[in-house]
Amino acid sequence: MISPGDVGGDPLTEEIVELTGLLRRVVGRRVRDREAVDDIVQETLARLLAARTRLDGRAIGPYAIVTARNLVKSQWQRADVGKRHEHRLADTRDPVRPDEPLLEQEEAEAIRIALDRLAPRERDVLVAHVVEGRDTGSLADDLASTPGAVAAQLGRSRAKLRVEYILALEGEPPTRQCRPVLLSLSAGDRRRQGELDAGYHLLDCDFCASMSEPLFDRRAKATADEVRIPVTVDADVVVARQRGREVAVQAGFSATEATVIATAISEISRNIVRFARRGEVTVTILTDDGASGVLVVAQDAGPGIPDIDLALQEGHTTYGGLGLGLPGSRRLMDEFEISSEVGRGTTVTMTKWHRR
Ligand SMILES: [Zn+2]
Repeated sequence: MISPGDVGGDPLTEEIVELTGLLRRVVGRRVRDREAVDDIVQETLARLLAARTRLDGRAIGPYAIVTARNLVKSQWQRADVGKRHEHRLADTRDPVRPDEPLLEQEEAEAIRIALDRLAPRERDVLVAHVVEGRDTGSLADDLASTPGAVAAQLGRSRAKLRVEYILALEGEPPTRQCRPVLLSLSAGDRRRQGELDAGYHLLDCDFCASMSEPLFDRRAKATADEVRIPVTVDADVVVARQRGREVAVQAGFSATEATVIATAISEISRNIVRFARRGEVTVTILTDDGASGVLVVAQDAGPGIPDIDLALQEGHTTYGGLGLGLPGSRRLMDEFEISSEVGRGTTVTMTKWHRR
């Protein structure tokens, strides 16, 4: 979850958004399709923005390049898998993955190995907290410590567990520098990343570069039926678009449909930035009698829209002639509603349904 203080006009956010040109060149050298380049650049920005409190700001350029390269690579892999499974995809919308049980078995084994690599005390506390549900207060009593110190220790143990888990699956790293670098990324320890030159290590070390992705982007693994994105600056539009797309995919929409929904979300988010300066977008999964869909609510406390009919007229773009504006968003979605009060604010409610 991204909190209001989290995405704002801080210098690192601006620096990340300014990397757009660099990323376009990096991705453009590897990918022909312009739309795919845009998508990968946007996704890279969204991931960096989400992870930026955990990354050493002085190495944000290397982090950006490595993230973009990883995304290009995973896109190729996906395209490749798509080709190999084309016949199966044609048969059914929900292809069976025959390797699933094997994967699960491997993953369970990796967790066991990773737990073994923790110090006994670290392991005991982590297990008591995660498995037995003990809170930090009662653990602190047992350990003659403080809840804050226990929470910090849990954070470090988790970070270590994530690294050891990945290494158990992928094999031992090629250099002695790798494990500490991965650990500093996993822990979000920016000081340590700086000491180790972690960003530059990733540029040179293919192993760590490909391992870094799940460590950066733990957010993407968490699934939620609802996301709430505060919207105040342009960077938030990118985040809203990205998070909206994730929820749409989770609701069962195809990649193309999810892009349509993400586009509508970025249009109304952009309106908030331009006119209201501060607002919020909520994206929620809906289910209704065999159908599923997403509900998007964009709320602001801006000046309001005096003439809604005019604002919704086709060809009427509310800002500078760019983008699709409100009429475009309405066209992209199934249901669309605006309520607005001059001087008080505007709420846009949009729904898209996905029929099985
Ligand atoms: Zn390495």
